[in-house]
Amino acid sequence: REGRRPLIAGNWKMHMTHLDAIGLVQKLAFSLKETELEAAEVVVLPPFTALRSVQTLVTGDKLDVGYGAQDVSVHDSGAYTGEISGAMLAALACQYVVTGHSERRAMHTEDDAVVAAKTTAALRHGIVPIVCVGEGLDVRRAGEHVIFCTTQLDASLEGVTAEQVAGIVVAYEPVWAIGTGEVATPEDAQEVCGALRARLAERFGQETADVVRILYGGSVKAANTAGILAGPDVDGALVGGASLDADEFAQICRIAA
Ligand code: PEP
Repeated sequence: REGRRPLIAGNWKMHMTHLDAIGLVQKLAFSLKETELEAAEVVVLPPFTALRSVQTLVTGDKLDVGYGAQDVSVHDSGAYTGEISGAMLAALACQYVVTGHSERRAMHTEDDAVVAAKTTAALRHGIVPIVCVGEGLDVRRAGEHVIFCTTQLDASLEGVTAEQVAGIVVAYEPVWAIGTGEVATPEDAQEVCGALRARLAERFGQETADVVRILYGGSVKAANTAGILAGPDVDGALVGGASLDADEFAQICRIAA
């Protein structure tokens, strides 16, 4: 994969209190070797309430695990009760934030315009957005997954400059594979990840497209990681359920390393 360092990101979703989070990160730190953490980038994406605890565990320590948030407000500050801004995440030294996750698109009515606004909000604060795209089962059955995903990526990156694109992460997460146990085949994952890179190259140039890491997400576990990561355009994984089990997640990271 042409020098792109594999990235394994664990999306904890709405699981783990800050106390649970401390235990999970400590277990991860215990089971992953320094050399493995150098070979693959390992990131956890806890709920907002656990970010500060994770920060205190990993900062200034030898523990080379990154962390980020699962969502960010489109606004930087103001009367937006319940929202969390990019500035607040940056103050917690978050390196990453997920934008466009299918659960937020579906259950919080986030359309591409909102996703693009969140993506630019993250970039404004120096946080790397992990921009998620992915088709539903109907689109896949109709054989329109590639055009669906490239179009969704285009719209989700509205307002993002070519220079900024070099610093983002893209995740291909077919909706039918998220939390269902039904993983895409390595060929499915490569097909769409390759098409997403080709689209980035068309829009922003090959050099830029070549440095963007594109992840696959959807029922990744240790048993299917090697196959999924074999695709030349698949640079890592966004892991949901399996990231809540320290041993399983560590094993996924080890396979990526
Ligand atoms: C996710 O939520 O991003 C995800 C891929 O979930 P799971 O691994 O549980 O399918």
